[in-house]
Amino acid sequence: MPIYLKSPEQIEAMKEAGRISAMVLRKAGALARPGVSTLEIDQFVESEIRAAGGVPAFKGYAGFPGSICASVNEQVVHGIPSATAVLKEGDILSIDTGAIVDGWVGDNAWTYPVGRISPEKEHLLRVTEECMWAGISAARAGNHLGDIGHAVQEIAEGAGYGVVREYVGHGIGRQMHEEPNVPNYGRRHGGIELREGMVLAIEPMINMGTRKTRAMPDGWLVVTRDGKPSAHFEKTVAITPDGPLVLTTEPGYERPVG
Ligand code: MG
Repeated sequence: MPIYLKSPEQIEAMKEAGRISAMVLRKAGALARPGVSTLEIDQFVESEIRAAGGVPAFKGYAGFPGSICASVNEQVVHGIPSATAVLKEGDILSIDTGAIVDGWVGDNAWTYPVGRISPEKEHLLRVTEECMWAGISAARAGNHLGDIGHAVQEIAEGAGYGVVREYVGHGIGRQMHEEPNVPNYGRRHGGIELREGMVLAIEPMINMGTRKTRAMPDGWLVVTRDGKPSAHFEKTVAITPDGPLVLTTEPGYERPVG
């Protein structure tokens, strides 16, 4: 598959899918409290996306049953929402969700603390978010794909954490997963050159322990091999003449990219 470059008008059109994706993720995060099941959050997200005029991007994708991926503690990504997955104080919950609006897809994720969490988990969340922002900051025309991964990897490994390799970020547009793959590891100036009009989902998945993962028999859930916690943060980002532009954001919640 080619890399589909987006025109400035198309990037403008993608902002609405991004806004709704960000809005539902923010609201879903506020539900991450002890006693709430991941299925309740999933059902809330689906109704919010539809009420906003979108379609849940994940629901039915390759047969995935949910509108969110809900991954708790040692679960890395792709957890299926479940009525029996009830959150407890001290958990961390990664919610990954997206909306399709006017044929354009938004995709974003955040890892939320459930009640009070340990300082070790707090550190993991802080560093993984920092990895994401560093990756976003490297998403500039003239840089290379490897610069994104390098920026993420340097921070994560500098903190003694493992960078997941088997799952990566991706191009996004009319389809949720487009070319190119966007690894969270890499060499400076390695890989293809980044160009204006590329739109990328940048999504570090960082493990407190080993980088190694295990895919579970349900065909979706991925966990850490050593059972230690994992965090995941993601935004959809357009490469523009003015630098990286985060599309999965809402008015009033923007954050300048360093
Ligand atoms: Mg993604």
